[in-house]
Amino acid sequence: MKRKLISSILALTMIVGTIFTGCGKAETANVTVDNGNEQSDSERVSDAGNESASEDIAGGAPAAEADKSADDRPGAKWIDSGIYGTYEGMGEISLKDDFAAAINRDWAEGAKIREGAVNVSARTEQTDNYNEAKLAVLNGGKKDDQDLTSLQNYYALLTDWDTRNKDGLAPLKPYVEDLMSISSIEEMTKYYSDPKRNLYGTPMVSISIITEPLDPFFNMLCIQSVSLLSDEPDDYQKGDQETEGLAIKHKTAEYMLKRLGYSESEAKEIFDTAKGFENKFLPGIEAIMADMSGDPSITLTVAEFEEKYKNLPVADIFRSLGYDVDFKGKIMVGYTKLLDSFDENYSDENIEGIKAWTLVNTLLEFTKYCDFETYEETAKLNGSGTINDADLYALETMEATVPSMVDQMYVNYCFDKNIKPQVAELTDMMIEAYRKMIIEEDWLSDETKAVAVEKLDNIKLHICYPEKVYDVKCDAIGTSAEGETALSAIIKGRRYFRLSEAAPLSKKNDGTYWRYDTYYSTLAAMYMPQDNSMNIFAGICGGDYYDESWPLEKKLGGLCMIVGHELTHAFDTTGSHFDKDGAQKEWWTDEEQKAFDERVDKLLKYYSELVPMPQISDVPYGEEGAQLIQGEAISDLGSLKCLLSIAKEQENFDYDMFFKQLAVIQKQARYEEAEKEYVATNDHPVEAYRANVPLQNFDDFLNFYGIKEGDGMYLAPEDRITVW
Ligand SMILES: [Zn+2]
Repeated sequence: MKRKLISSILALTMIVGTIFTGCGKAETANVTVDNGNEQSDSERVSDAGNESASEDIAGGAPAAEADKSADDRPGAKWIDSGIYGTYEGMGEISLKDDFAAAINRDWAEGAKIREGAVNVSARTEQTDNYNEAKLAVLNGGKKDDQDLTSLQNYYALLTDWDTRNKDGLAPLKPYVEDLMSISSIEEMTKYYSDPKRNLYGTPMVSISIITEPLDPFFNMLCIQSVSLLSDEPDDYQKGDQETEGLAIKHKTAEYMLKRLGYSESEAKEIFDTAKGFENKFLPGIEAIMADMSGDPSITLTVAEFEEKYKNLPVADIFRSLGYDVDFKGKIMVGYTKLLDSFDENYSDENIEGIKAWTLVNTLLEFTKYCDFETYEETAKLNGSGTINDADLYALETMEATVPSMVDQMYVNYCFDKNIKPQVAELTDMMIEAYRKMIIEEDWLSDETKAVAVEKLDNIKLHICYPEKVYDVKCDAIGTSAEGETALSAIIKGRRYFRLSEAAPLSKKNDGTYWRYDTYYSTLAAMYMPQDNSMNIFAGICGGDYYDESWPLEKKLGGLCMIVGHELTHAFDTTGSHFDKDGAQKEWWTDEEQKAFDERVDKLLKYYSELVPMPQISDVPYGEEGAQLIQGEAISDLGSLKCLLSIAKEQENFDYDMFFKQLAVIQKQARYEEAEKEYVATNDHPVEAYRANVPLQNFDDFLNFYGIKEGDGMYLAPEDRITVW
């Protein structure tokens, strides 16, 4: 369920090519990335507006007389205030009826969605903030810093579309000629093993580095899948008929081949040859499609692995590419039947098919890395591809290839390092409050509470940025005057990416390094059950989330709400199956599990009746929708409970400021169509409800604003749904 969330990060890498992801169960399925932003735009959003505008405070005009009997479902008086333009023609909205709608109204009415984007929000505004800061450094003066110089040169090469357009696909040709000159399987192995020749970067498999599920102090290579053009059996059995996915790849590959100088018929033949080779995997594909559980992932020692895969020397190839597969000596295979097929067919007899298949997959990876025409035309063929301006294009390409270098640049030149100890202190305060919260729960035994507290105390705090990063160096990227081209720089960047990816393989997870140490200059916070770590990235410490000059109330309503949310993930339906070190272990009694499930059931019932977009449809979330969002909803509620316990300990706590900030971080203006998509697929509730629902569950909020039965924000004590 969470897999698509990590994909928002993985999508940045562009080093994909898999359809199945066989190791997801072990790793990514349990990752919770709370960036939730469906875009990463850099264009300025004009006038953020007054972020905490509200006319109505305690004692304000009461809501219109409620007609309770007409509709007593949850949130009956709410609108989805995150839909763009929704306030038009709407009368006054009292915060007693719909808190998020009242608080964010002024901002939303002035919000502008930039061209090509689908929304604007607290997230996109903060994304704009850090993108702007990064661009200023990339465009700024050189310093005595080789990595920064490389990044500045990289940026200049990527944005120099004139030169790139003049070069066209010529820089790619020598690599293609090299591949196509191969005439034996032995040469093919040499090609795959040579990172300077093999642009794809692996022996045509998609991989991830995962933490060992039963021994989280070690990592291992997981071969998720073979790089398939299609995973649809129909694509192989029905002659020329193609599914939409394959048709796009087919057109794109032929376009690239023709741009490289192949004739129409040659291009067609190469694609057909590639598909013909892949056709040999059909039995494996069918077996998986017929029963996804029928081909479970397996973990082998390296010796067993090498014994099993004798034709295709996968382990040796990865060794040559810089992956220390022998450090712990285990490899996981996601879909064994596919890798078996690849191994069986890795022979001189199939060499033409293997070459064509490798070429097609490689070209599909490089559509954004040539000239502008290729970028634009292949985006059109793709249907959903967007064309970004030069700055954003360059930033995205850099984040896809050298993310750690961009992160380090951000921390060194854009980020106020004083913020890190401040956030660490706030996080400690949250953990302390959380400990008390767990101890006070009446449905957990003392033994289980002790385990929970131990887990809480053992959480690895990854705040803002790591003190120590893996020792991986990118080959220096020069200027065009020094003979560097955009393509040669991208190839160096992709090589760096692979080495960075491989680095954790040769280190123990003993806390010295962050296990997941990339993208901390982007807007994300996440709890990782696999190493029991809380990750609050530098990229989220700004905008509506954090400012060091703010009073505590605003910090609690902003960034700390996110911190508490992540803490709760350590004890949600997923996190509770992992122990203090990140090993998969059950530590609840059956009785406690039952009590937990009952609490979750009540929450599920509430959400299943809640209508996500009442202005456009009266269809509620329903059971399925409630299941999708429950984990995130539980975490929002847990976080607010924790924050309120901290508030109670403060003198003269400004509840108004605190509650409003909770709504401000959820401000959102998203086009209707995109909102429908969000509701159907995102595992977070709509943003407006991420403020309203948690708030209405606590008397501190209801009493502060004098909210009573009949007000839209009111929720009777017996209907409340906090799980923690
Ligand atoms: Zn979450």
